[in-house]
Amino acid sequence: MRIVLVGPPGAGKGTQAAFLAKNLSIPHISTGDLFRANISKQTDLGKLAKSYMDAGNLVPDEVTIAMAKDRMEQSDAVNGFLLDGFPRNVSQAEALDEMLKAESMKLDAVLDLEVPEDEVVKRIAGRRICRNDSAHVFHVTYQAPKAAGVCDTCGGELYQRDDDSEETVRKRLEVYHTQTEPIIDYYKAQGLVVTISALGKVEDVTGKAMAALKGDGEGE
Ligand SMILES: [Zn+2]
Repeated sequence: MRIVLVGPPGAGKGTQAAFLAKNLSIPHISTGDLFRANISKQTDLGKLAKSYMDAGNLVPDEVTIAMAKDRMEQSDAVNGFLLDGFPRNVSQAEALDEMLKAESMKLDAVLDLEVPEDEVVKRIAGRRICRNDSAHVFHVTYQAPKAAGVCDTCGGELYQRDDDSEETVRKRLEVYHTQTEPIIDYYKAQGLVVTISALGKVEDVTGKAMAALKGDGEGE
């Protein structure tokens, strides 16, 4: 199955992508991982991307598209993949279509994780991270530490990352609405979009997504 996962920041996309990819036995291809891998291996694309990032500029679509193409051509992706963070705008979506068409392939579904805007803000702005280990993550409402501001795991101090402030979250949502959301309409025109609510427990959302994806494949 070839799937694109779309959803606003705070929808739990990364977590869902990991579970879905495992359930479907396909690689989870995230743009974050692609950038990190290319930069750490110092590939030509990685060097190019880094030069833009170091200058404080956005990495051009061509570079992101080339990295994604490279990754999708690897042997573990022959039977499908789950894309997370790519495409993030209509021009990248068009490039992906071209790429797949050239290989006589097509997408099977675009999974749209829906979550109300206020919920997104609440989820992200309530996040607290441990100063000792960024894997120790808490939430003031949903996963409160036993003592406020103190990590349950190691006793470290909990803090809010700058990226998680309400102001930054609102800005990221704005970018999502203007840049990424239009791809949902683009894919709706191709009849590929499956929308599910990202509210509720992680495993329940995964279950709904799996059911929706399987249902989507029936009768084709
Ligand atoms: Zn800790």
